[in-house]
Amino acid sequence: MTKLRLAIVGAGPAGIYAADILLKSERQFDVSIDLFEQLPAPYGLVRYGVAPDHPRIKGIINALRDVLDSGQIRLFGNVYFGRDITLDDLKKHYNAVIFSTGAIRDAPLEIPGVDLPTSYGAADFVSWYDGHPDFPREWPLEAREVAVIGNGNVALDVARILAKHADDLLPTEIPDNVYQGLKASPITDVHVFGRRGPAQVKFSPLELREMGELNDVDMIVYDEDFDYDEASKIAIATNKQVMVIDKVLNQWRAREVGAASRRIHLHFYANPVEFTGETFRYERTEPDGEGGVRGTGEFRDVPAQALYRAVGYFGSPLEGIPFDDRRGVIPNREGQVIDDDDELVHGVYATGWIKRGPVGLIGHTKSDAMETVKHVINGQASWWSPESPEEESVVELLRERGIQFTNLDGWHNLDGYEIALGAAEGRTRVKVVPRDEMVSISNG
Ligand SMILES: Cc1cc2nc3c(=O)[nH]c(=O)nc-3n(C[C@H](O)[C@H](O)[C@H](O)COP(=O)(O)OP(=O)(O)OC[C@H]3O[C@@H](n4cnc5c(N)ncnc54)[C@H](O)[C@@H]3O)c2cc1C
Repeated sequence: MTKLRLAIVGAGPAGIYAADILLKSERQFDVSIDLFEQLPAPYGLVRYGVAPDHPRIKGIINALRDVLDSGQIRLFGNVYFGRDITLDDLKKHYNAVIFSTGAIRDAPLEIPGVDLPTSYGAADFVSWYDGHPDFPREWPLEAREVAVIGNGNVALDVARILAKHADDLLPTEIPDNVYQGLKASPITDVHVFGRRGPAQVKFSPLELREMGELNDVDMIVYDEDFDYDEASKIAIATNKQVMVIDKVLNQWRAREVGAASRRIHLHFYANPVEFTGETFRYERTEPDGEGGVRGTGEFRDVPAQALYRAVGYFGSPLEGIPFDDRRGVIPNREGQVIDDDDELVHGVYATGWIKRGPVGLIGHTKSDAMETVKHVINGQASWWSPESPEEESVVELLRERGIQFTNLDGWHNLDGYEIALGAAEGRTRVKVVPRDEMVSISNG
């Protein structure tokens, strides 16, 4: 029977689901899968993006772990595609590759002041509080008032983690340095800004509702934002999500506020204009009657000593692989990678956020993976013909190069270590942050 030697680069949910779907699919060939991951730990943004106070979502890791533990996938952690292993290497050892490298960078936002030292990307802040090894351990939390730009769930995560009292985060898996940093924060007010109205936000209702349940944090909304135009009224009447969001916001309008020591303000119809380091300036917008908004010419200043932009994530290019600079994705047709001339690149596939762009929930990466895997299976005629398909050959290659790779047993070691660290303090886990420590614990 023919055997498909498949490399998957990126051990986030997209890569792991792709492996699972392929292993369970009906096919006329055997499969052997190697999963390469630049971090010593798998699970991508589920471990390093999903907020630590969302244990239910973090729990998806249990399902992903079952896939890895099925015994049919080898994990090579701490291996960076483009440096430790290249496309030429993969062609020598595999029949095909799926890239599932996701997105970790902030999308750009061009306003004056965005380059000031107290202006931050949400992705960097998230990486800090989720203990990503490649980000500085210290985060400057000196501002009393903070502006957050964005009206999606990441903006809510950032606002919530900034405003929440550190002790309320202690039962979660946050690393010690994060707890200490948040504990010392003098923050009192977080202002969240969106260009459009309450009926156009991208928050999920559950995430929004949770904001109203934070200990000692008032949610503040402004009556002027609720004078709905026709399009908003229709959206509220016809879309259940929007209806719930409107209901939650209106409950907050009716609430007594003023008792809490911290506040999160939601400002709608606010177009970012400038950050000075002391204030955030925005222009008030209004519906343009065509589903968008236009500026009103009225400018307002809000005190803010720090700015966080949560305007989306952006993928990174990979050595030797086509890349769409505008969208931050690998150009593809249903997961089959295409080049500048729109021609299929044989043997190269993409899935997850690097295929589709950084939108959508973890569950969406499953349907993504189904589509891509279908093409891997049907594309047998265009697979590569590797010189050294033996499973041991890639292990030798990494050893020869002196790469300190980790494997699945190593991940079990690290996982067990973190859980034990947590148990000692009555917490679910305490994450190990420095990369060299992660590697040395993994490799015993
Ligand atoms: C802040 C934040 C909060 C979120 N919260 C939720 C939530 O509550 N619920 C929900 O359903 N979804 C949430 N999401 C969305 C969810 O995280 C994504 O849908 C999902 O993680 C995308 O999966 P992916 O596998 O495509 O990418 P990723 O999860 O980013 O995984 C990509 C993997 O590839 C690896 N990689 C990258 N480059 C290389 C390379 N050169 N060599 C080797 N490996 C590489 C990365 O290290 C990473 O492990 C959130 C996202 C963010 C950013």
